[in-house]
Amino acid sequence: MVSLCENKDGLARLQDKQAALQAIVRVMAGSVQLDVLPVFEETLAQVTAALRAPMAALHLLGGEDEQLTLVQHQGLDPVMSRTWVRLNLDGDTPPALAHRTGHGQEFEARETVPGMGAVVTAPVRGADIGLGALSVMWGGEADRLEPDEERLPFLETVGHLLGLAIEHAGLVAELVDRVNELRQIKEQEERRALELAELNQRLQRANVRLEELSITDELTGLFNRRHFIQRLDEEIARSRRQKHPISLIMADLDHFKRINDTMGHQVGDEALKHFADWIKGGVRRMDLVGRYGGEEFVVLLVDCGPKRALMVADKLRREVARRSQVPPFDRLGGFTVSMGVSKLTDDDCAQSLIGRADQALYKAKEGGRNQAALA
Ligand code: GH3
Ligand code: MG
Ligand code: MG
Repeated sequence: MVSLCENKDGLARLQDKQAALQAIVRVMAGSVQLDVLPVFEETLAQVTAALRAPMAALHLLGGEDEQLTLVQHQGLDPVMSRTWVRLNLDGDTPPALAHRTGHGQEFEARETVPGMGAVVTAPVRGADIGLGALSVMWGGEADRLEPDEERLPFLETVGHLLGLAIEHAGLVAELVDRVNELRQIKEQEERRALELAELNQRLQRANVRLEELSITDELTGLFNRRHFIQRLDEEIARSRRQKHPISLIMADLDHFKRINDTMGHQVGDEALKHFADWIKGGVRRMDLVGRYGGEEFVVLLVDCGPKRALMVADKLRREVARRSQVPPFDRLGGFTVSMGVSKLTDDDCAQSLIGRADQALYKAKEGGRNQAALA
């Protein structure tokens, strides 16, 4: 070891090496890079500056025949760079020797190729494998090396740093690939989840629609017969629990056949739709209105005794006669409806309640139509 106090030049050289190492570590640390070339460039620049050498070369293992390949150099003339572009692993060139032995070496000019001068070379090592060699060269005239005990350890340290950087870059590349893969999988999963959510929403909407379809009459939008009876059963049970009266109206359009026969089925449909709207608009929200079949309708009046029910029926009947005096129905003098009203008794079920309203309806028809009758 050169004594620092005795040798000012030695101190300066040591400081140069420390500065070079710091610069190399900085460029390595500052770049989580896949591209190690900037690290190679900076390393060769720092190494040649610190060792005051005109030339440097970095060989790495590569190619199919596993040779040491010149990947970066500085200051090599074309002839030399061509001589050193590929080196056999088992040859006696300084890079091959450093790689093979796993430690650095200094060569005087006479030990190297003619015209190259002195060479100092160190292996480039990863965590546990040799990856190549880092060499620093002087020209032909400098056949002897200045004494410098720190030179070889310095170059070996740089070689090791380079090896770690190369391995790190490989790991980073692998990591980035893996992260990209994971990101793609995640994106795919997110897309699938989104599609699934959309599908689910559509299914829910379809279910709601299906539910609506299953309980409503397509033409009028009123409850269909099946659903009306189901609700009627529930309301009968409720009225018994809560002890409030309920009444039922059965309505049948008068001479409806005539509307169809004289103005066509479509106008008949329009009449049915209007009729449904008027009835629905003429009762409370809690009352139930259903299409029982053809031109027959049922209305359940909740919490309503027979007297009031008859009044409601009569009001509805008059409304229909009045409101149907519009084109195209006015050509026939509008249309009318007959109604039968029944009230729930203790031993009633849905069918018997409807049956009695139907009988009352028959009475209303018999009585001359356009009237409401109580069972
Ligand atoms: P009444 O006063 O005795 O009830 O006579 P009406 O002509 O109304 O009775 P009828 O039972 O003879 O005729 C009912 C008609 O209602 C026959 C049928 O073609 C018609 N109809 C049933 N459903 C529909 C429908 O959805 N659309 C149309 N346009 N007509 C219907
Ligand atoms: Mg009828
Ligand atoms: Mg009728």
